[in-house]
Amino acid sequence: MNDKIWLSSPHMGGTEEKYVKEAFDTNWVAPLGPNVNGFEQDLSTFLGNDMHVAALSSGTAAIHLGLVLLGVTASDEVICQSMTFSATANPIVYLGAIPVFVDSEKDTWNMSPELLEEAIKDRIGKGKKPKAIMPVHLYGMPANMLEIMRIAKQYEIPVLEDAAEALGSSIDGRMCGTFGEVAALSFNGNKIITTSGGGALVSADETIVKDARFLSTQARDNAPHYQHSQIGYNYRISNICAGIGRGQMEVLSERIAQRRAVYQQYADRLKDIKGVSFLNEPHGYFSNRWLSTILIDPTTAKCTREELRLALEKENIESRPLWKPMHLQPVFSKYPSYVNGVSEKLFDDGLCLPSGSNLGSIELERVFDVIDKQMR
Ligand SMILES: *Cc1c(COP(=O)(O)O)cnc(C)c1O
Repeated sequence: MNDKIWLSSPHMGGTEEKYVKEAFDTNWVAPLGPNVNGFEQDLSTFLGNDMHVAALSSGTAAIHLGLVLLGVTASDEVICQSMTFSATANPIVYLGAIPVFVDSEKDTWNMSPELLEEAIKDRIGKGKKPKAIMPVHLYGMPANMLEIMRIAKQYEIPVLEDAAEALGSSIDGRMCGTFGEVAALSFNGNKIITTSGGGALVSADETIVKDARFLSTQARDNAPHYQHSQIGYNYRISNICAGIGRGQMEVLSERIAQRRAVYQQYADRLKDIKGVSFLNEPHGYFSNRWLSTILIDPTTAKCTREELRLALEKENIESRPLWKPMHLQPVFSKYPSYVNGVSEKLFDDGLCLPSGSNLGSIELERVFDVIDKQMR
């Protein structure tokens, strides 16, 4: 059996161990320390726009704290992109709030601005103005943030961007994660850079980020004893994980270029296969191409998405259907949703292909061999 080819696996740059060793040598084996501060500084510099950053234990924690800091509480409604990973929506339910799912547009696969506005109007008409809007930049492709922010401003609803998959993606040079009032990043093992597990809350508002650091370390008031006037969380990143993050930041630009090169090879090699299509970058959009994705039209292609997935699996190659929309998930189906069929179709026909920045040409040729056999 050939070695397993993963969808997206960690790719160390080489200096991560230096930062981790420093943490050991100085005994900063704690959820604070120089690596945490350094990692936050590196992220802030990378994002530009004077963003402030709180490094946390996961992207999910960042979303959870982001919602808390936007004032979401029990029985509030929060508009959430339906086409996403469950980690976008789960924190809404942690808070006892109600997710209201909005479907995608075809151009970006992310939240449809049209449906967003329809949903806002309808919820207001039903007597409850949504407390926050959560667009996602899936697979690195930016959501239509210009339109989404315009609508959000018009109705005065804050935006929490789920940028977990989109570190380094941008629209007209402005980074994903810098559009909304708050944004969440993830450094889980499969993301474009990783700290093994980790995340960050990002905001232009320094108070929000200071509050995030406060809440993430159990909300301890300034007193010699343990004094609490708010409910806190244990969500800070460790100085060890942040050390990995500092090393990864040194190669982030290279990783983005490598992921984009993988995508380009798929696009070049598969472009003449009948029934296969790609998601192009709209004008001014830049995707980090975290995952390379294709759509397989079952009416014109030689095989279906599922047949190709199984053929790849047989050759020990991991691929995966696109995210199953939240409004179709058993755990979320009872919540309100505004749908247009786009995300359901993407789920039916879409496939994520091996996309790691560490994929070599031998691995990619193995993937192409299977696709050629199945689809030509
Ligand atoms: C990975 C991911 C998250 C969660 O991040 P974790 O660090 O794994 O908690 C949230 N949203 C999206 C879209 C993701 O891909």
